[in-house]
Amino acid sequence: MLELPGRLERLTGAARERAGRLFEVRLVSGRTVPPPEMEPWLVAAFGSVDVIRDQAMLKVTNRVTLEATLFAPLRSRRPLDGPDAHRDLAAEIAATEGDPFCHPETGTPADTFGRVRGARVTTGANAALADAHHAVLVFDTHDPLAFDAETVIDLLRTGREWAELARRDDPDAVNYVLIWNCLWRAGSSIIHGHAQALLGSGSHYAAIERLRRDAAGYDGDLVEELIAVHRSVGLTVDLGGEVVLVAHLTPRKERELLLIGRPGMEETEPAFAAALGRTLIAYRDRIGVSSFNLALWRPPLANAEGWEAFPPIVRLVDRGDPFVRPSDIGAMELYGTPIVGSDPYDLIEALR
Ligand SMILES: [Zn+2]
Repeated sequence: MLELPGRLERLTGAARERAGRLFEVRLVSGRTVPPPEMEPWLVAAFGSVDVIRDQAMLKVTNRVTLEATLFAPLRSRRPLDGPDAHRDLAAEIAATEGDPFCHPETGTPADTFGRVRGARVTTGANAALADAHHAVLVFDTHDPLAFDAETVIDLLRTGREWAELARRDDPDAVNYVLIWNCLWRAGSSIIHGHAQALLGSGSHYAAIERLRRDAAGYDGDLVEELIAVHRSVGLTVDLGGEVVLVAHLTPRKERELLLIGRPGMEETEPAFAAALGRTLIAYRDRIGVSSFNLALWRPPLANAEGWEAFPPIVRLVDRGDPFVRPSDIGAMELYGTPIVGSDPYDLIEALR
């Protein structure tokens, strides 16, 4: 990641101008003075004392959205309290079999219109609603990591069908979002494989509305240019059918990916749905991610004036080792600029 400024400098013409217009990139350095008493510990923990003495970090800011990230490579090498190599995630997951989601027809409330029963996913109403319409999308498999491409495709299809049914009784509810918090570290209270869908009225969910406003105030096509800048610095993979995978220059947290379709595309279209399936499988199997947050951003289902340039976008972020005690989200992530230790180039290389 530290080579990003050099890559940007080698850009020419419109590509260089576009990158400079969208992103502020600053390479910064810091120095520390470790006492000799610390040296054995630093060598054991970080491999050398010199990497502690002189450190380079990269600050990337999206000038339009003000999303920003502090890339601090050493952060990912810090010793963390609590990881226990003897704990077995598969066993931990299996130990909770028999939960209410193992029998969703009797373990979750139904919506007033009933349930949507997909090939792999059954809907229920969330027992504790967060909005007027709030579903749980319960997988047939207890293990949340046992999904395959079909599960993901069926999830998108079932979620959308649920939203269309909910909207029939409440035509003002058009703002649809599908989210997946996988395992407790990502905020999930139930281990059993499940995603959620919300359908709201009024403004779209805030983060989505934020991007629409930023795009509306930008002189150009913001999403298209974001893709173009990432492509110009080698952070994209084209997945076919005009679907692009992006290792984000300003990730919210570790290993954030954006899967971006083209404007007007439905998230249920095979090109997009299958690309998401492949991406999630690679995220799990090649990168080794077990706990993640996923959100589908898309325009409102109706009354979508002003959303014409907005494609379906899935944002996906790694929440780290489920058995590590410290939360990955601290005050900088909530109220400052997120600090990230992982490298978007490592991520995109592993997904090519
Ligand atoms: Zn279960």
